Amino acid sequence: MTRAQMLHRLQAHAAAWDIIVIGGGATGVGVAIDAAARGYDVLLLEGSDFGKGTSSRSTKLVHGGVRYLEQGNVSLVMEALKERGILRQNAPHLVSNLAFIVPNYDWWEAPFYGLGLKIYNVLSGKYGFGPSQILSREDTLQRLPTINREGLRGGVVYYDGQFDDARLLINMVATAAEQGATLVNYCHVTGLTKDGNGFVNGVVARDEENGNTFTASAKVVVNATGPFTDALRRLADPSLEAMIAPSQGIHLVFDRSFLPGESAIMVPHTSDGRVMFAIPWRGHTLVGTTDTPIPEPTLEPSAREEEIQFILTTAGQYLHKAPSRADVLSVFTGIRPLVTAANASNTAALSRDHTIHIDASGLLSIAGGKWTTYRHMAEDCVNHAATLGQLLERECVTRQLNIHGFHPHPERFGQLSSYGSDAPAINELMEREPELAAPLAEALPYVGAEVVWAVRHEMARTVEDVLSRRTRALFLNVKAAREAAARVASLMAQELGTDANWKARQLVAFEQVARHFSLEADAVGGGPDN
Ligand SMILES: Cc1cc2nc3c(=O)[nH]c(=O)nc-3n(C[C@H](O)[C@H](O)[C@H](O)COP(=O)(O)OP(=O)(O)OC[C@H]3O[C@@H](n4cnc5c(N)ncnc54)[C@H](O)[C@@H]3O)c2cc1C
Repeated sequence: MTRAQMLHRLQAHAAAWDIIVIGGGATGVGVAIDAAARGYDVLLLEGSDFGKGTSSRSTKLVHGGVRYLEQGNVSLVMEALKERGILRQNAPHLVSNLAFIVPNYDWWEAPFYGLGLKIYNVLSGKYGFGPSQILSREDTLQRLPTINREGLRGGVVYYDGQFDDARLLINMVATAAEQGATLVNYCHVTGLTKDGNGFVNGVVARDEENGNTFTASAKVVVNATGPFTDALRRLADPSLEAMIAPSQGIHLVFDRSFLPGESAIMVPHTSDGRVMFAIPWRGHTLVGTTDTPIPEPTLEPSAREEEIQFILTTAGQYLHKAPSRADVLSVFTGIRPLVTAANASNTAALSRDHTIHIDASGLLSIAGGKWTTYRHMAEDCVNHAATLGQLLERECVTRQLNIHGFHPHPERFGQLSSYGSDAPAINELMEREPELAAPLAEALPYVGAEVVWAVRHEMARTVEDVLSRRTRALFLNVKAAREAAARVASLMAQELGTDANWKARQLVAFEQVARHFSLEADAVGGGPDN
């Protein structure tokens, strides 16, 4: 899977595509897999890198959403729990079972959460991840040795899924390509073309690598641009009212000592009424998230000072040793593409979770939902797209479709387990060239062979692609990612056949992004435009 091959497929395709998908996040790539697996002819264009938007910035949970259960939204929870089970079945190399503990400090919490979480497990039916259980104080402390002991009565343990969002997305891109879809990153859609009746029948796009503009036509155009949904819709009709109310959420990453066990902490009610998680993830501790309405989405959002303080304060209430600013290894920010209720009346299909909306121009937008339910969203979207584009009716087949890298025992591959069936090929690279086995930075487990693999097989084009989404270095530890950048640039330059200027430009561009993940003074936002 190389970008050159994909561009070649694109250029060789003179006829109209069945479906063009705009946006290479979980939603768009999910749609591309579904449509291609049904046998439709699919093109997906991503303006930046696959997963550059929200889909690499989630809390990394494949979950039913305990919060929705409390709100009485049982069908939504059941659907997500089912999708959680399907995803673990189809991508066991990237989705794993994780124990979550709700610590109890009040007498009523054990029976209240005990019952709620029992229902949560019952709703998962045959897709269950494990029974919930009330824990004594001693059991809770054994599983969560760093939990705040003062007033602790015990806890309730339940099970949910955990995953690596960007790695799953990259493997989904490969899956879509294997099913026959053409997917190109760094191709920004700048316009929509229309037929004589004013119906959208294609796109105008710019190849961000060489500046060339091209057009492609399709029977249906699907807008899967997440937080940018309205900007795309307004390319067809600038007068349209907004359907997205963007809201950002941040996560802070600390070292593993803050949560050394194998269990996560789930706080059901923070002081602002939200759910907060502290999760062991890739040898680190991930804490989040917040929910802050923002006026406009940006591709590289920044954490606000009050969000950072809120997470530090809340974490400090539950952890024996309160983390401080100096302990933060990385901060990352994602934007929720929430659909406003005002627009609900004129949507073609409305689920409480995701929304499929068709404008008068025939542009189909799919937004909202969550990572966990991407497959179900895609099924729903392609059903609508097929009707809209008068495509031959074909059944969805993704329930039983393995994601690229599928392996029943990925743990055999140790540090490379998230590559699943690709891991032996990466090991071979290291055997052939032992210098590729050297770590990219002391504090991180990533090695040079992963960089070479990412360029050769995963369409990585920039240093940031490798350090943010093919590996997760920038999300785990900004300082270590900065240390690794020069070596990554050299390895990539060799693979791509680029020169010293390319390397220098890449390092400057990477540093601009890295600032958003760092708590250094110049990185943190706070103004209305962040
Ligand atoms: C803080 C936070 C935590 C979350 N945690 C979880 C979780 O733990 N579990 C879960 O299930 N869900 C979670 N979610 C929800 C989930 O992450 C999102 O629902 C999902 O990632 C949205 O994917 P998307 O593809 O719709 O949007 P995006 O991932 O943002 O993708 C949209 C893409 O469109 C591209 N694009 C935009 N304009 C153009 C253009 N003109 N041309 C071409 N491409 C364009 C962008 O570059 C981007 O890559 C979380 C969300 C947030 C914000």
